[in-house]
Amino acid sequence: MIELAGRISEDFINEVRDSVNIVDVISQYVSLEKRGKDYVGLCPFHQEKTPSFSVNPEKQFFYCFGCHRGGNVYKFIMEKEEVTFPESVERVAEFANIPMPQEYQEQPVKLNPLMQMHQDAADFYQQILLTTKIGERGLNYARQRELDDELLKHFKIGYAPDRRDLLLTYLKEQGYTDEQLAESGLFVQTQDGRLFDRFRDRLMFPMSDETGHPVAFSGRRISDNPDEPKYINSPETSIFNKSDLLFHFSEAKKHARKEGHLVLFEGHMDVISAYKSGIKTGIASMGTSLTQQQVYMIRRITRQVVINYDGDDPGIHAAERAVGLFKQAGSFDLGIVILPDKLDPDEYVKQYGAESYQAAITGAISTTDFFLLRLKKKYNLNNEREQVAYLSEAVQEIATLQNPVEQDLYVGRLAKETGVSLDALKMNLSRARRRQRRIDEHTSAAEPAVLPPAPVQEQQPVTRATRAQQRLLYAYIYSDEAREYLLLNGFVFPSPQYERLAKLWLNYIETHENVSLSGFLDFIPEELQSIIVSTDMMEIPGEITLEELEAQVRVLNLCKIDDEIGQHMQAIADARRRNDQTAILRETQAILQLRQLKLQEEEAVSDRKKASHEQ
Ligand SMILES: [Zn+2]
Repeated sequence: MIELAGRISEDFINEVRDSVNIVDVISQYVSLEKRGKDYVGLCPFHQEKTPSFSVNPEKQFFYCFGCHRGGNVYKFIMEKEEVTFPESVERVAEFANIPMPQEYQEQPVKLNPLMQMHQDAADFYQQILLTTKIGERGLNYARQRELDDELLKHFKIGYAPDRRDLLLTYLKEQGYTDEQLAESGLFVQTQDGRLFDRFRDRLMFPMSDETGHPVAFSGRRISDNPDEPKYINSPETSIFNKSDLLFHFSEAKKHARKEGHLVLFEGHMDVISAYKSGIKTGIASMGTSLTQQQVYMIRRITRQVVINYDGDDPGIHAAERAVGLFKQAGSFDLGIVILPDKLDPDEYVKQYGAESYQAAITGAISTTDFFLLRLKKKYNLNNEREQVAYLSEAVQEIATLQNPVEQDLYVGRLAKETGVSLDALKMNLSRARRRQRRIDEHTSAAEPAVLPPAPVQEQQPVTRATRAQQRLLYAYIYSDEAREYLLLNGFVFPSPQYERLAKLWLNYIETHENVSLSGFLDFIPEELQSIIVSTDMMEIPGEITLEELEAQVRVLNLCKIDDEIGQHMQAIADARRRNDQTAILRETQAILQLRQLKLQEEEAVSDRKKASHEQ
C-alpha cells in the first residue's frame, strides 16, 4: 500500500481517517449494538446468526471472531465495497465531507463495463426526460403521476422514447462492444443477432445495487395500450440478481439509523410515494416476492422493519409470507401496516395526505395483532363451533410469543373480546406453551436452519507459539521498554510475518510523528493487517513485566526446541531406512541434548511461576 501514498498524500489519508468514527461508518452497513466498550453486530462478510463482529471505537478497529477479518475503516470499506485502497479513502472522505485533493479528482472511479454502461444509460434516459423535446411525453406523464423534479432526480428516473435503437446508437458511440451490449440486458436480440432497445416509450426507473450504482431498470408503460405489459424489468445479468437486490436500499440505509427502521413495500412505486410523504427509509423487492437473501441484507442494517404491502388480498398474503421469512431468520422487531379500503400507499397518500400516512407507519401493529385480525376474518364468531376454533388458533399463536407479559396481555384482550373466562384461556395457553416448547426444542435441534455454512477464511489454529508471539508483538508495539529489551537481546520472532511486522513498526515509529496503530495499518501489506488487529483485539492485560517478557520468550524457545527435536526424529527415521548407524547415533545425541535443554527451560519457567505465586 505504500506505493499508493504517492497518489494520495499520507497527511490526507490520516486526516480523513481521524475525522470519522469507524462506528458511524460501519453502522451504515451493519446494525451495531453497544456491548461494554465495543460495538457488536452480525458480520457483513460471513453469514451468521449470533454476532461475532466487533468494532472498537477506542482503537478504531473492527474484527470478526468468526472469519478473522479485521482492520481500520479503510480496510472495512475495501472489503465491503470491493474497492481499492484509494477508492476506499475516497468513500470515507465523502462520508466525512472532505473534498478529495485536486490531483486525485481527475481520476474517476472505474466501474466494470456493464455497470458503467448502466450508469451511462441511466444518465442518458434522465437527460432525455429532463432536457429534450422528445422527452416531453415522458415528462408530462411524470407530472401526471405527481413526480416532481426532486423525486425524478433522487430516484434517477428517466425516459426511453419510442425508438428502436436510440440507446443502442448512444452506447455504441461510447465505445461499448457488441458483446458487452448483448449481455447487458438493455437490448433484445433478434434471431439473426441484431440488437434493439428493450425499453421503448417507458418511464425508466433504475434499480441500484447496495452501493447505489444502477444495475437494472424497470420501465413503466406510458401508453394506454393494454397489450403492452405495464412494467418491463431487465432480465438477470452478471451484475443483476433479482433475489439480492432491494430497490432504494443504498439510500434507505443511510436514513435507517436515524429513523430506527426500514419500511418494506411491495413495489418501487410505493417506495417513491412514501418518499414523497417524507418516509425516506422505504425499500422494495424487485419483481419477485421477498427472498431470504434480502431478509439477511435488511438484518445487517436494522432489526426494526415495518411491512407495508398493499391492502388487497394478494398484498396481505405476501405480507404473511414476508412475516414468515423474517421470523425464520429470527430476532426481528416487525410492524405491519394495513391501509384501509385495500389501498396501496400511493392511493392512500392521495386520499388522506402525507401526514396521515406517516401516522399509519408510526402506528404499525404487531405481527400478533396482524395475525389475530386475519384470523377473526376467517371465522364466523357468531357460530359457537367456529368461535372455539378461532380461540384455539389464537391461543396457539400467542403461545409462540417469548415474552410472558405480552402473552398475558393478548389473552386478556381475547377474554374480553369473546366473553370466555380468563382462567379457561390461561389453561389453554399453558397447554399450548408446553407444546410450543417441544416444537422449539425440536427445531433448534434440527439446526442449521436457513443458510449454508459461510465460507470461512483460511484459519490457523492458535497455538501456544502463536499466542506467545501475539503477546510479544503487543509488547513490542505498546511498550518502549519491552521493545528495547527484545532488541537488546537480539530477539527474533520465529514466524517471518511477525518478524516483518516488528521491523515495519520500528520503521513506522521512526518516520512518523503522530504514531497510531490505526495509521500503521495503512502502511503495511494487507495480509499482515489481520495479525495486528487480532493481536490487538485479544483481551490481554495491558501491563507487561520483564518477567512476563522472559517467560514468553521461553515459551517460544521451548516451541523451537520441540520443532528441532521433531526434525532430528525425522532424520533418525531416514537414517534407519538407509541403515546408517553413525547418523542414527549422531541424531540421537542431538535429541538428548535438546531434551536436556528443554528440561532446563521448563524448570526455569516453573521456578518463575513459583516465585510469582509466593510473592
Ligand atoms: Zn465474519
